[in-house]
Amino acid sequence: MLSNAQILGVDDAHVLAVDGNDSLQRLEGKTLAAFYRLRQAAAADGIALTIASGHRDFFRQQKIWNNKATGKSVLRNIEGDVIPFEAMSSRELLAVIMRWSALPGASRHHWGSDFDVYDAAAVDDDYQLQLVPEEYQSTGVFSALTVWLDKQWREGKFTDFYRPYDIDRGGVAPEPWHLSYRPVAEICQQRLTPVLLTELLSKHDIALSALCLSDIEALYQRYISL
Ligand SMILES: [Zn+2]
Repeated sequence: MLSNAQILGVDDAHVLAVDGNDSLQRLEGKTLAAFYRLRQAAAADGIALTIASGHRDFFRQQKIWNNKATGKSVLRNIEGDVIPFEAMSSRELLAVIMRWSALPGASRHHWGSDFDVYDAAAVDDDYQLQLVPEEYQSTGVFSALTVWLDKQWREGKFTDFYRPYDIDRGGVAPEPWHLSYRPVAEICQQRLTPVLLTELLSKHDIALSALCLSDIEALYQRYISL
């Protein structure tokens, strides 16, 4: 059972290092055991299932967020085109950031149950991973991984894993690389409430937090609850 601090990303005692090529990545214990089973099955079919990003803590997410909210990082609109920081109102800026990046405290990567994957067997070692939908579509470098995962689920295997951002629901952009381990993620999702987030946002230095707090219920519905 994760603590509230672990669900919000401010405590990482629940995560363990992944072995192998992705040893810099960490996952929650039960998720890690299930990931090893998934990785082994994928390997038997020629797919080197590798984690690009596993657990990410609140402080890392805070940095990503604050860099975007203060114009230090590149910003993209809903269509993915680069958009100038100065051209946006605070509200527009918030919508642009939340399309691509989670509010600190509300990233599913805090839980250790969620991670981004690619197929290391499909690319050279020096391949620059982009994490864009095109890489995972039928003509993309990771199409075999997409097809393989879909086949497992069709056959009723590894159904504890799923893609929470499979389609565009008008909030977070589709992320075909993002997998979630349901037995852990569903509990975290239920326990991550607007009240819990409000407490966290009030305590930390997060750009645009006043605007977020004034609209937390709507933001929660659109970007956080799935
Ligand atoms: Zn992700």
